[in-house]
Amino acid sequence: MARPRVLVTRRWPEAVERQLAERFDVTFNEADRPLSQAELAAAMAEYDVLCPTVSDRIDAEVIRGGDRVKLIANYGVGFDHIAVGAAKAKGIAVTNTPGVLTDATADIALTLILMAARRAGEGERELRAGAWSGWRPTHLLGSSLKDKVLGLVGFGRIGIATARRAHHGFGMKIAYYARRETDPEIARELGAEFYPDLTALLGASDVVSLHVPGGGETENLIGDAALAAMKPGAYLINTARGGIVDHAALAAALREGRIAGAGLDVYPAEPQVPQELLGLENVVLLPHLGSATRETRTAMGERALANVIAWAEGEPLPDRVA
Ligand code: NAP
Repeated sequence: MARPRVLVTRRWPEAVERQLAERFDVTFNEADRPLSQAELAAAMAEYDVLCPTVSDRIDAEVIRGGDRVKLIANYGVGFDHIAVGAAKAKGIAVTNTPGVLTDATADIALTLILMAARRAGEGERELRAGAWSGWRPTHLLGSSLKDKVLGLVGFGRIGIATARRAHHGFGMKIAYYARRETDPEIARELGAEFYPDLTALLGASDVVSLHVPGGGETENLIGDAALAAMKPGAYLINTARGGIVDHAALAAALREGRIAGAGLDVYPAEPQVPQELLGLENVVLLPHLGSATRETRTAMGERALANVIAWAEGEPLPDRVA
């Protein structure tokens, strides 16, 4: 039987591309440019397996592009860029890469918390601009983290890993909003307080960090009303998905000092960054670096590969989401 045809939409770490090529008839994206919607739709008729990333929009129209693809093996844990319902309706399986990027993404959440609370971006910009006039007792004062409340919105893998770092490493108190209470052992370990009501969590937190998936249910979850519920000295951190935050509302809250600051890794229409944020000093802006370590990106490729191999061998898919 001919080897299954696999399309990998962006460059992966070399070691995993090599492993994939050993087993399958693979097309790699040598130029590493984003594929157009038309190219993705055409791929549906030409390949057995599609391996997209968060930078590809696999919408219902793309999925209607052809009948050959039987597996969409996403390189990443979030899959809100894939029309999962449309895939399911056509009998296409969808898999993701959970777990292997938890630590790296939690590290970026802590990076943003520290940068925002300690005004690190502002300080670096000042220094590079030659505007630093030297040490003084009132220069760029930020906020201490010890004994402050970190409110996690969504308490899954990355939310919990972020809480562990903040609590054990920085002495923060942990509160979380979720649809159900966490495992009692985790609650005990972190002294984590459960808030079934988002507004109450926002009002109780000094730092709010978002860890729910993107998509319809969480679209603009943090808008005007949510920002108004936050403490005036609080920080908003988003390493989850851009669509969870109404960025016009966030920019207004930051500009007017209604919250102290924000740290963002993700945006609603990447790679565009909402223009109104670019001129604000009290927001840290990272270019979607959550899982960007060599080790993690290799592990993500291996995890996607394990799903493609399982599919090719007719085995149950380890990370099936649809
Ligand atoms: P996870 O373990 O599935 O955690 C997500 C949590 O959100 C779950 O506990 C889930 O609770 C909860 N949740 C889902 N929908 C909710 C809703 N409507 N209201 C309240 N809670 C809700 O996923 P993860 O591995 O932690 O990843 C979380 C997200 O981070 C991903 O979906 C992805 O978008 C993002 N991410 C970003 C980067 C980056 O590079 N910045 C890297 C990795 C991941 P239930 O048990 O109630 O479903």
